[in-house]
Amino acid sequence: MPIQSRGSVRALALVGPTNAGKTTLMESLLLTTGAVGRRPDGGAAEKVGDASPEAKARGHSVELNLASFDYLDDHYTVVDCPGSLEFCTEVDAAVPAVDLAIVVADADPAKATLLQPTLRELERLGIPRALFINKMDQARGSLQELLDALAPVSTAPLVARQIPTFQGEKVTGFIDLALERAFVYRPGEPQQIEIPEELKGEEADARFHMLEQIADFDDELLEQLLSDLTPSRDAVFADLVREMNEGLIVPVFFGSAINGFGVERLLKALRHETPAPERAAERLGLDGPGAYVLKTAYVGQSGKLAFARVFGGKLDDSADLTLPNEERARVGGLFAVQGPNIKKIAQAGVGDIVAIGKVEHAASGQILSVTGQPQQLRSAMRARRPLFAVALAAKNRQDDVKLSGALSKLIEEDPGLSITHDQEGRQMLLAGQGEGHVRLAVERLKRRFGVEIDTSQPKTPYRETIAKGATQRSRHKKQSGGHGQFADVTIEVRPLPRGSGFVFQSRIVGGVVPKQWVPAVEQGVRDGLEKGPLGFPVTDLEVTLTDGQTHAVDSSEMAFRVAGRMAIEEAMGVTGTILLEPIEKLTVYSPSPAASHVTSALTARRGQILGLAPREDWKGWERIDAYLPQSERQHLINELRGLTQGLGAFEADFDHMSELTGRLAEEATNAAKQPAGAH
Ligand code: GDP
Repeated sequence: MPIQSRGSVRALALVGPTNAGKTTLMESLLLTTGAVGRRPDGGAAEKVGDASPEAKARGHSVELNLASFDYLDDHYTVVDCPGSLEFCTEVDAAVPAVDLAIVVADADPAKATLLQPTLRELERLGIPRALFINKMDQARGSLQELLDALAPVSTAPLVARQIPTFQGEKVTGFIDLALERAFVYRPGEPQQIEIPEELKGEEADARFHMLEQIADFDDELLEQLLSDLTPSRDAVFADLVREMNEGLIVPVFFGSAINGFGVERLLKALRHETPAPERAAERLGLDGPGAYVLKTAYVGQSGKLAFARVFGGKLDDSADLTLPNEERARVGGLFAVQGPNIKKIAQAGVGDIVAIGKVEHAASGQILSVTGQPQQLRSAMRARRPLFAVALAAKNRQDDVKLSGALSKLIEEDPGLSITHDQEGRQMLLAGQGEGHVRLAVERLKRRFGVEIDTSQPKTPYRETIAKGATQRSRHKKQSGGHGQFADVTIEVRPLPRGSGFVFQSRIVGGVVPKQWVPAVEQGVRDGLEKGPLGFPVTDLEVTLTDGQTHAVDSSEMAFRVAGRMAIEEAMGVTGTILLEPIEKLTVYSPSPAASHVTSALTARRGQILGLAPREDWKGWERIDAYLPQSERQHLINELRGLTQGLGAFEADFDHMSELTGRLAEEATNAAKQPAGAH
């Protein structure tokens, strides 16, 4: 596991949709550079990708994976990011640390839209990016068709740096448009050949197009092209490097990770073109030596590890660190990371990504400063709202403490998860970026912390309101020996429009209810409204105290409170109540081809579509606005992801309460009447 090297040190993120071949590309980079050995059948001798039991069970990455290799004199760390949006919060914290993101794409034009969320996020973060079109061994159809399908997914122009060459349907190599050289694919280094005569025209056109694209950001080059002058190769490379480093263009490379095709050429480009770590440090806002935490994890015997990239100076295995909250911590061991394996090292150099031991309170997205001065990120990490939640409780009450300890560790590792305590529903909610994300967390709780837990659907905060007005006189009277209790009140109740809440007023004249006890009546009414006849808090009504009677000896504050409660309960017995359910305003984002399925899914969930329009700045996407009952949202994200190749997302905000009648109202009411803890 080499970590110290004399040349440059660079970090790369492999990002993009699930199944595009990120993990395969990582393994191919490691094989090509000899960082891992080959099995006789050509595969990797050592498994570095997707090693956790959860990833193995699912057959794809569910967490970040780190591996390093040396190529020529330089040292690289690759951060293989999970592709699913369910795990996007892991990626959010990791990608800002790298010098370059390699977006791995499938060569199938039908899968082009899958790249949009990734590319948009990289653009937003200002991270230089390149596209690696993988699975060229399966590519069918024309290159132009593929590039046309890909063009809308990126705001910065995609600049093809190569054109693949085919023999019949089979990809055999590529022509490098910057070098103007042709290569035939072989595992390892490709073989250079003469540009075939019949491809010279195509090559010249493609190269000219590439030059036009980069000339958009270089006036001098534009002049040269307009005057039919041939720019020097060095000038072209200089533009390609600068424009990619500034995020102005996205270069496109082709290959087949599984066959090792195009990987060597990619490595060469990386060697010459990947920005230096200083750029990432500047983007993060690091001023002076420190480390940026990409991820934290509790790893077997090692306890908590902070996976961090070192910037601005070397980091020793006993360095003193200052956390953003000014807390101090001492590095308790430094480790090089290769997939699931870690190895102790004495020092980490600038640009290295290492695991730091024993920094108990470090969290991903933080800067650990070495100067003694705390440091904050230049721009705060994107906050993502949860899209799915489950209610959870320890199976055995004795495990409550263990559960809360385990949860806090889990959330520390994955800031995309959150825990809320819902007082009203007396439930603890674990929320995350999708059903898969939350279920994975639950699996980890069980496997890693040995806590047996029950999960259930979160309760919906229903309300009740009165169906009509009524006048109610109620008397509380007790005269069983000693001091008695007496209070008599008359109230008028009337429904209020939705959203009005509860209004109380008094029209008492002549002190029939003494002024100091009017608030007690109000309190009694409030007590009674906490749980209406259907089992839910009552709202949207006005209660007016109109009359009453007092006993000179037996009346008291408490007696009036009891009478107030009796009065409202009896009044509700007369008026009856109706169930109100929370309705949310939902904005759903979906690729256009799936939009009609999404609207049908919303309608099937009692949603009311308010509008469907192209998503601003996202070509090929729609924005759907709808009202949806909160109770229907629970599994929406799963359905939405199913309909949209995993890309759909929504934002939901409470909007209003609406009447619920019939079977659904009955079900909700029956559920509320079950004893607490029963699911
Ligand atoms: P990830 O989810 O992006 O990490 O994708 P993986 O690396 O796990 O690859 C997804 C699937 O595509 C696996 O079955 C790979 O074997 C396959 N795959 C990866 N690269 C290639 C390639 O270049 N050509 C072909 N035909 N299949 C590939």
